[in-house]
Formats: sequence, C-alpha cells, structure tokens
Amino acid sequence: MPYTHAFLDSAACDLPLGKIVCVGRNYAAHARELGNAVPETPILFMKPATAAVPLVGGFAIPAGRGECHHEAELTVLIGRTLRHASEAECHAAIAGIGLGLDLTLRDVQNELKKKGHPWEVAKAFDGAAPLSAFLRPDGIALDDLRFTLTVNGALRQSGHSADMITPVLPLLAYISTIFTLAPGDVVMTGTPEGVAALQPGDVLALEMRGLRVESAVA
Ligand code: ZN
Repeated sequence: MPYTHAFLDSAACDLPLGKIVCVGRNYAAHARELGNAVPETPILFMKPATAAVPLVGGFAIPAGRGECHHEAELTVLIGRTLRHASEAECHAAIAGIGLGLDLTLRDVQNELKKKGHPWEVAKAFDGAAPLSAFLRPDGIALDDLRFTLTVNGALRQSGHSADMITPVLPLLAYISTIFTLAPGDVVMTGTPEGVAALQPGDVLALEMRGLRVESAVA
C-alpha cells in the first residue's frame, strides 16, 4: 500500500509527502545503550520520501541484511515552510503529531560507523519509515507526551518527550537553520532506550494518548 499522509480524525490531508528529517541520540539512555557519547548538538540525518510506508496493519523488513532494529519515535508533520524559524513559528507550523519507526539495519550501520561512512544504506532504504496517521496538535503538550512500543505483547520501548535532550520546538528550530522544512515534511524526534531486532511475524503496538496503532512485521 503506498503511503500518503493522513489524520486520525479521517479528514483529508492535502499535505504532500516530503523528506523525513531524523535526529540521532536524542535520549541519553539510548545513546548509552549503543555505547555512544551524548551529543552536544543534534545529530541529523534524513530519509527520502520513498522510505515512508504505512505503519498500521504491517510492514516488511529487509531480508539477509543482518538485524533490523525498531526505533519507536514521536513524529511531527510540518504544515508550513520553516527556514531559520523561531520556536513560536515552529509551534505554529506543526500540522500533526504521530508515531513512527526509524527502522535501522543495525549490523550494516555498525559497519558504516566503523568505516566513517554515511548511514543512508542502514536507515534510508525503501520502507525504512513506517508512519502512523497524525493527531491534530491542538491541545497536545509537546513536553508531556508518553509513548510506548510493545512487541508480541511485551513492553520494549517507553519514552517521554520530557526526556529529549533537544525538545521538539528547539529541535525544529535547529533543523530549520540547516534544512528548510517544507509542508509535508516529517521530523522523527529520536528514540528512547530499548531498541532491538525485529523478526518476521512480530506483532507490534505503538501507543500514545489518543493514538494506538497495531502493526506486524510481514
Ligand atoms: Zn532513530
């Protein structure tokens, strides 16, 4: 099924699908679990629009490429152009809040990191960004969002936006000093600890207040 942006309230979303900007190591406990230093400025990377697939229902992971890890993340749908934007402008530009997986070929990424090579092969492949529909941002406290991922009924990841090293609005503002954020772009805000390999047949549930998405690995 091809991906298009959608709102959970089922009103049509006319925002085109743009780039997906991601941040690495935005939760200190996750940086530590992979043996990484906690960064002083956000570590940014991107996935192309072709990485997006619907999260709901199920998605595929690459075969024969080593471990493919789930990274459950809060996602932000951008509704207005942001370039060198203030935090207030960033807040006003948020069209939706959702959940997604920053799928990561961890063995491939570790090899790339060892060689000092870019990460795209490990993180930007087709299908690397299963995304949920979006909640309207009205009334959502960006600094008070808890979200969870269960796999086969067991809690794997539990994050809270208050634990982000760079919170949502400063993160969007920082990104906008480097990459213009356009309507339809998505920002993935980093993953809390608990990343692990997915297996075909795994049953997943991602949840935050007002949003629950059931999915599975094909
Ligand atoms: Zn991530």
